Amino acid sequence: HRHVDHATPERVTEAVQSGHFHPRIPDYERFDAYRATGGYDTLRSLRETGDWEAVQERVLTAGLRGLGGAGFPSGKKWGFVRANPGPRYLAVNGDEGEPGTFKDRYYLERTPHLFLEGMLIAAWAVEAEVAFIYMRDEYPAVLEILRREIATLEDAGIVAPGYIDLRRGAGAYICGEESAMIESIEGKRGIPRLRPPYVAQVGVFDRPTLVHNVETLHWVARVCREGPEALNVHEHNGRTGLRSYSVSGRVAVPGVYLLHAGSTIKDVIEAAGGMAEGHTLKAYQPGGPSSGLLPATMDDVPLDFDTLQPHGSFIGSAAVVVLSDHDSARDAALNMLRFFEDESCGQCTPCRSGCEKAVKLMQADRWDAALLTDLCEVMVDASICGLGQAAPNPILHVLKHFPDEVS
Ligand code: NAD
Ligand code: SF4
Repeated sequence: HRHVDHATPERVTEAVQSGHFHPRIPDYERFDAYRATGGYDTLRSLRETGDWEAVQERVLTAGLRGLGGAGFPSGKKWGFVRANPGPRYLAVNGDEGEPGTFKDRYYLERTPHLFLEGMLIAAWAVEAEVAFIYMRDEYPAVLEILRREIATLEDAGIVAPGYIDLRRGAGAYICGEESAMIESIEGKRGIPRLRPPYVAQVGVFDRPTLVHNVETLHWVARVCREGPEALNVHEHNGRTGLRSYSVSGRVAVPGVYLLHAGSTIKDVIEAAGGMAEGHTLKAYQPGGPSSGLLPATMDDVPLDFDTLQPHGSFIGSAAVVVLSDHDSARDAALNMLRFFEDESCGQCTPCRSGCEKAVKLMQADRWDAALLTDLCEVMVDASICGLGQAAPNPILHVLKHFPDEVS
């Protein structure tokens, strides 16, 4: 992410169409290097003599929670999936689409085998017949790395040919919603399903499916190899564990920072080299646009699962975007709503019409606070999936924390 790519979108499209597109492949840890440090030994011994419930216990003790953003306890999911008769599947959500989130890409471009081993351990734990990887097409280097390394695993006899089924997303944000992703894997238009039933019961081709985010599986491998201490010995501000914050915006050194789960925005900015020169913190997005926009005064709140709930926000995928005194909170919120308007799948009216109407209302010099609040309530209460339910957050936060900008 620190690499500046000078290829314009037009040049990339042209190169892809002409078959001359070669993504820049970063220097990542290869199979031999990973094997040399004991890589895949854990998987082999688990396959030979392992007890899946003991591994589940280890993952639960580590406190590993789903790092796609929802923070659902990872070990619990294994139990939900196993409770249903096979055949079962595993589907990895690599459709990292939340603006500002790039941690999955960071890990995949550096240590792909940690992810692949974690994925195969989870697949073993739920006896998955196929492991689908749904990877966003905007990460061409990652796709190339995975293609190469999956072939290496097949050659080494670690997986049967075809066991790992690598699928490419096609740029729709909504296909990162797990049930829309499953529709897309099945070859259909990616639109969310109503829940329940959860995908643990009715997933890919209606079979019980374990869905995990990429980084979650990276930690499954580490916890299995290093023990629950890989995560649960880290304590800060009363929180346990570690978080990979994707940090961008007005900071000196944007990037992915692995910090304590209890880190505040002050800690995150400090890790990113402080504010960019000449900028003062004004607001921050703790976990992508769905999490809204919090003011600089909230600089002592741990940015972890659950801690932002009282503030009408959430950490989500920990995509921290820092805004400064050079930025307008109202413009940022409008930009976020335009994004949701574009990406709404259109299946339900509160979200499809709600996003469109919100954008129109937000373009007025003065916001009609009562009307916008009413609209937000309907969107939160009546939208089918998280997109429509969370889209009002930036609006509500600007009304609450930056009223001067819109009145
Ligand atoms: P969710 O809490 O509804 O579900 C989380 C996971 O737990 C799902 O896999 C779900 O199937 C499972 N689950 C929950 N309750 C269950 C039950 N009773 N039985 C069985 N399984 C159960 O959250 P969600 O809508 O899947 O995800 C929302 C999060 O996604 C937000 O935090 C948002 O920030 C994040 N997000 C991330 C990205 C990204 O690029 N990483 C993009 C958009 C949104
Ligand atoms: Fe589609 Fe939006 Fe409804 Fe989700 S909330 S199903 S994205 S229209």
